Amino acid sequence: MDFLKPRYTPMNRRRRIYEGKAKVLYEGPEPGTLIQHFKDDATAFNAKKHEVIDGKGVLNNRISEFLFQHLNDIGVPTHFIRRLNMREQLIREVEIIPLEVVVRNVAAGSLATRLGLEEGTQLPRSIIEFYYKNDALNDPMVSEEHITAFGWATPQEIDDIMALAIRVNDFLSGLFLGVGIRLVDFKMETGRLWEGDLMRIVVADEISPDSCRLWDIKSADKLDKDRFRKDLGGLIEAYTEVAKRLGIMSENEKVQTGGPRLVQ
Ligand code: UDP
Repeated sequence: MDFLKPRYTPMNRRRRIYEGKAKVLYEGPEPGTLIQHFKDDATAFNAKKHEVIDGKGVLNNRISEFLFQHLNDIGVPTHFIRRLNMREQLIREVEIIPLEVVVRNVAAGSLATRLGLEEGTQLPRSIIEFYYKNDALNDPMVSEEHITAFGWATPQEIDDIMALAIRVNDFLSGLFLGVGIRLVDFKMETGRLWEGDLMRIVVADEISPDSCRLWDIKSADKLDKDRFRKDLGGLIEAYTEVAKRLGIMSENEKVQTGGPRLVQ
């Protein structure tokens, strides 16, 4: 009597478009949309270090939603449409430009190492750097020359990307300063959004403590992924602190873990 047995129906029938280190992209409900799912995986040093940190995806989904919604509200175009649930958001499908755009205000990380600067030194002005998105090559730093010569973006697109990066940096720096956090640096990604024959460059991917360096202004405590990279512990507490300061989570709230899970 086979028909009496409970039948297992997988929850997740959506087509998986792409799986990255910390996120999965699924086909969206309408053409031109995708669903971006935030996993709990933390990776560093080109995935040589890996851990699953319960609740990280939920926090990044909320923090990234907050930042992208504000960017949309001030007229900085992004791929973000709306958050769907604890771990997922609806986004516009874009053609990702294969560059990591890093904006720096304060010396830290690879810049401090490369140029022998003391971590925490205020830079003379904000600096924009480009890295070619390629795991096999360890995301090498590239210049505008490489970008145009290899056709990853046109000179006009580079101008648009830099203008976007400066607007995002100014907005985020002010927003975080208002809640006692120093935006040391961050990484953003951009994509081409096609609307009929028209194309514009928009901010894509995520902006979260995974992709920013955020230091408490008073104590200089790290409230970002460096807690994982440097084995400092307390990553969830740090991300929760960011969410609370931004007013996303209430003072006594704890991040709910669980929620929609990936069905492997
Ligand atoms: N970053 C990122 N993804 C990367 C590399 C860097 O989100 O693959 C972010 C990082 O969190 C920091 C900024 O970009 O906020 C600058 O990182 P840096 O070049 O100093 O590299 P790292 O020290 O992280 O290797």
